[in-house]
Amino acid sequence: MTKKIAPCILNCPAHVDIRGYINLIKEKKFVQAIELIMETLPLPGTIARICPHPCQSNCTRKLKDAAINIPQLRIFLSEMQKNFVPQIKNNTGKKVAIIGAGVAGICCTYFLRLSGHDVSIFDAMPKIGGMLRYSIPEYRLPEKVLDCETNFLSAMNVNLFCNTKIDAKKFQELQNNFDALVIATGAWESSKLNCEGSEYFIDGIKFLRNIKLKKENIVENKKIAVIGGGNTALDVCRSAIRLGAKNVINIYRRTRNEMPAEISEINGALEEGIIFKELLTPVKVVFNGQKKILTLQKLKKNLEPENEFLTEEFDLIISAIGQKVNTNFFDGEKNIDGTIKVNDFFQTNYKNIFAIGDAINKGKDRIAIKAIAQAKIVAKHIDNFLANKLLEKPIDYKIIKINGDEKNSNMRLKMQEILPNERKNNFNEIILPWSYDEFLKEAARCLNCGG
Ligand SMILES: Cc1cc2nc3c(=O)[nH]c(=O)nc-3n(C[C@H](O)[C@H](O)[C@H](O)COP(=O)(O)OP(=O)(O)OC[C@H]3O[C@@H](n4cnc5c(N)ncnc54)[C@H](O)[C@@H]3O)c2cc1C
Ligand code: SF4
Repeated sequence: MTKKIAPCILNCPAHVDIRGYINLIKEKKFVQAIELIMETLPLPGTIARICPHPCQSNCTRKLKDAAINIPQLRIFLSEMQKNFVPQIKNNTGKKVAIIGAGVAGICCTYFLRLSGHDVSIFDAMPKIGGMLRYSIPEYRLPEKVLDCETNFLSAMNVNLFCNTKIDAKKFQELQNNFDALVIATGAWESSKLNCEGSEYFIDGIKFLRNIKLKKENIVENKKIAVIGGGNTALDVCRSAIRLGAKNVINIYRRTRNEMPAEISEINGALEEGIIFKELLTPVKVVFNGQKKILTLQKLKKNLEPENEFLTEEFDLIISAIGQKVNTNFFDGEKNIDGTIKVNDFFQTNYKNIFAIGDAINKGKDRIAIKAIAQAKIVAKHIDNFLANKLLEKPIDYKIIKINGDEKNSNMRLKMQEILPNERKNNFNEIILPWSYDEFLKEAARCLNCGG
């Protein structure tokens, strides 16, 4: 089947109807706008704050002046419409267990409950939210936003079991007691650097988690090295600055332009005084009782090592080079990197066990919106599976003809941020809200492609 859709919708992994909800905003139908979003994206304000927004990068309006500010529109709308009440279908009598209450597990629970299944969700941590709660810093995603947007779990009568780590024995019990299981346990183990003395490194993910758990500040007045160029490394750098580190130096094996982290994060870090050192890799760390002496080897652009080394002293070295999955509780088929093997229907080699999110994704696919897209699809497959129906192939989308009928000449309204000097000593949210008029003005810029 082929369905034609606007470029923003096509490029969103969850195919959120962006064109549709912006049209509803233009008509001031805000309740209908949020209802439309909730069909595909149960955490609208949360994801608006952290998503890399491929929808926006592919917006047609870019060809004329600048893309529609899709994230800020959704933040405004979600702040306005907090009282969405999901309509749940009649009880199906089927029981589904979700292991992991990160974004994948939460959203899958939402879609399965809408269909009327009895859903129980189990998580090892004291609170739900996964990496969004325990890693992404408060200045990017305030916990109160996540708390508010996940309230639907209690409103939907979901059975929630926090502080419940699933091991092989408990997994077997779940297998015996539920009609279907979804593994959504993410990737919580840090990858290790191949470097002599790497035992002196601090784990970036644990560092971020300890901030969230309000543990001791270990970076105040210290000189810190942060290894890595992804989201985690940038979050570590910018959090360390906020905790009063004297100097924060980011070390990356490629150039700054090639970092997988979002460009806005890199620019934000530069503004806050973080120093970037590129084309370097750590080869040795020695601890002299007070300082860590780090030896770095220079690399060519193609990552071949040069015969040139430099050393620098640090108080702390934090490694943030990526995460691995740990699904020891599951005896099904896995890939070499430990991610769970699934078919096109996110089904493992056990017919009633499915897996989604970072537990199956790799590299650039490890983003929240991808996990949400999978949550919706897998919920549909589980509906069919529980009803003994055939699982359906995904729809093949095609892009529609671009609408060149430009009627509005307003320039894009930028995301306003707190100034670097005012924000770098605290964890307050960086982005500043729009006014109601600004919100409507930006919505009016949308070209309603193909509408
Ligand atoms: C520092 C950092 C910054 C990031 N920044 C962004 C960003 O800006 N934008 C973006 O889109 N993505 C970002 N990501 C990636 C994003 O957080 C993940 O893609 C997303 O959280 C994946 O969701 P998930 O539900 O699959 O896994 P997770 O969020 O990791 O949730 C997994 C859950 O499973 C639980 N769990 C694990 N094992 C067990 C077990 N055995 N038993 C019970 N529970 C278990 C965990 O406690 C956790 O709650 C970032 C990731 C990190 C680490
Ligand atoms: S102009 Fe509007 S409909 Fe067209 S791609 Fe951008 S947001 Fe989507």
